[in-house]
Amino acid sequence: MNEPLQPIFDEVLARNPGETEFHQATRELLESLDPVVRHHPEYADAAIIRRVCEPERQIIFRVPWVDDEGRVQLNRGFRVEFNSALGPYKGGLRFHPTVYLGIIKFLGFEQIFKNALTGMPIGGGKGGSDFDPKGRSDAEVMRFCQSFMTELYRHIGEHTDVPAGDIGVGGREIGYMFGQYKRITNRYESGVLTGKGISWGGSLVRTEATGYGTVFFANEVLKSRGSSFDGRTVVVSGSGNVAIYAAEKATQLGAKVVACSDSSGYVVDEAGLDLALLKDVKENRRERVSTYAEERGGSARFVAVDSGSSVWDVPCDIALPCATQNELDGKHALTLARNGCAVVAEGANMPCTPDAVQVFTGAGIAFAPGKAANAGGVATSALEMQQNASRNSWSFDHTEDRLHDIMTGIHARCLETADAYGTPGNYVAGANIAGFIKVADAMLALGV
Ligand code: GLU
Repeated sequence: MNEPLQPIFDEVLARNPGETEFHQATRELLESLDPVVRHHPEYADAAIIRRVCEPERQIIFRVPWVDDEGRVQLNRGFRVEFNSALGPYKGGLRFHPTVYLGIIKFLGFEQIFKNALTGMPIGGGKGGSDFDPKGRSDAEVMRFCQSFMTELYRHIGEHTDVPAGDIGVGGREIGYMFGQYKRITNRYESGVLTGKGISWGGSLVRTEATGYGTVFFANEVLKSRGSSFDGRTVVVSGSGNVAIYAAEKATQLGAKVVACSDSSGYVVDEAGLDLALLKDVKENRRERVSTYAEERGGSARFVAVDSGSSVWDVPCDIALPCATQNELDGKHALTLARNGCAVVAEGANMPCTPDAVQVFTGAGIAFAPGKAANAGGVATSALEMQQNASRNSWSFDHTEDRLHDIMTGIHARCLETADAYGTPGNYVAGANIAGFIKVADAMLALGV
């Protein structure tokens, strides 16, 4: 990183002590911006890069709730409204015990440029809580969501800030939060949250969108190398809605998806994952992937997390990390390279460590960063907002076609931008630069 970027990064470190994930995400962006600074002195004059690294607003709040035993529990809620140059803040809510301000800021920061890349009029934000939904009853989850929204409602709105799901927040949680918003405000304001149920303002394809979009993006990467998913072996990590629907689309395109995982371990299924069984285990019964292996029998085996082995030990042509940040490190990347993996596309946010990305580059593995490859989720959220605004609902095929066009558009924009700025074929540089310039130009136009 050269002048003037290094002092800006030093300032980020000094202003945000201990927020390691946020540091990692800002460093990754700033490292791509050297050629941008050289071509666009106007950004430095308006302190655009310094301003883009500072959230417009950060909200931290108390979330008290009553558990099934009648005891009062306490969690902390967050909403970081990072950048609204392109539209209302947009980004998910994460409920997970690891959540703290640094995680929400890294996710919100990524969201700014991801959302810009989609070409839709949405700014960047993120929120969540350190609440752990694991092992909680449905009634407890409902009471938590209601308490969370009792504070959050005053900060959001269809023209202000539009949350959605992320890890630990799916259709059930969005429903409880939307119900509470409606109760408090006395408004049926469909566009205030996305990821809603189909019968009450949601969009078809939103559930599948992040996973499908990641595979559409990876398919463009493969095409640009004269290849395709057909006949390839794929490994996904995770088993939430990103992983499941990435596996589904890859299977539809002729690939064999042989492994997935959760926090307890991973399953290898040499015959290819049985997606109906996986969905039943994870979506309906909310059980572990070990249950999948037990019920599938024959072709599948479960490997526990404490065995020391990981899902990245399973040989594959295409790896789709769809679990969480920093889940794939340099050691895993070396294993993937040794096993002949050719393409890695991030379905999760920042799942590959900087070391891993360096290994991919050295080994000639095509690497598609999350802010491009997983933008299909938020893009389809923007399509949901369009349907809400026009009081309309679109068919599955129409919505999927729109998603497909958006993902191929992002892929093309990444390659064109990487070319124009002297780093041909580099998706990280292409995504960072294209996303940044879109936001920076809007910020310039809107004044200080
Ligand atoms: N949580 C998703 C993401 O990381 C989607 C956010 C949204 O739909 O607003 O992009």
